[in-house]
Amino acid sequence: MSTVRSPMQEALDELSQKWDIPTEISEIHFGKRDDLTEKIVKVGEVFFHMPFLAGPQLYVLWKCLWPDCHNCCEQPIRLPMTENDIELMRNKLGYKTKSDFIKNETTVITFQDKAINDVLITHSMLSMKRKKDETSKDDGKKISCRFLTSSGCGIHPDKPGVCWMFPFLPWRESGDQWWKTESHAKFVFTGACPGFYLDKSLDPIMPTLQDYSKKIYDYLISCHSSQRNSYISTSKTIQYRFLCDLPSTNIKSLK
Ligand code: SF4
Ligand code: SF4
Repeated sequence: MSTVRSPMQEALDELSQKWDIPTEISEIHFGKRDDLTEKIVKVGEVFFHMPFLAGPQLYVLWKCLWPDCHNCCEQPIRLPMTENDIELMRNKLGYKTKSDFIKNETTVITFQDKAINDVLITHSMLSMKRKKDETSKDDGKKISCRFLTSSGCGIHPDKPGVCWMFPFLPWRESGDQWWKTESHAKFVFTGACPGFYLDKSLDPIMPTLQDYSKKIYDYLISCHSSQRNSYISTSKTIQYRFLCDLPSTNIKSLK
């Protein structure tokens, strides 16, 4: 009798065919680790919520395996754009006007997200077409990005900001006063990335966090500006989550 595999099981089975995925990392993807906590480390302007397994006393770290891996470019579910991205990509793709770029290269997407603190957020924004004939109906489907070539991303480094973020989930938290706004980031476990591993120390990932701190901070500022200028409509102003599709249980277990 055949058993129906969940999308996460399918994703991890596919990942395991090529990569060695530690058992603990698989269990985290399925929300099966009761000992999963987090340690917050501030690097630059960003608070990184680093997953920590209290049982074996191990951190979950990450290292990008590019160019041996390009899973995140083979299966993005959307490529939402900030105002900065639109200008960057308009130039990159040779459009004279913003309106021509938007008309030909983007779709309007609206999706809901319950990723953080169980708050349901509705986002509406422009998303770059991953295939030439993409429509809004394709949002949420895994589609290999048309800019992926045999030698990597064909538009690197002028690619949308969201492409720089994965597998981090960045968000902002603000109090009543704008000057208290903080930038945060944590990993998302979608089953697409084989780069997670375990270590007793945060030391190996510190250079990466230093590198990503500025990228994440700049990206969140760009998201904020895009929202202010109506390029992004979000039902809640403190959080942004893009690109990755994941069961909310994965995030809840990391809180
Ligand atoms: S899926 Fe993960 S390891 Fe692979 S290229 Fe993307 S970020 Fe790097
Ligand atoms: S634009 Fe480049 S980095 Fe982004 S998904 Fe496409 S190929 Fe990957």
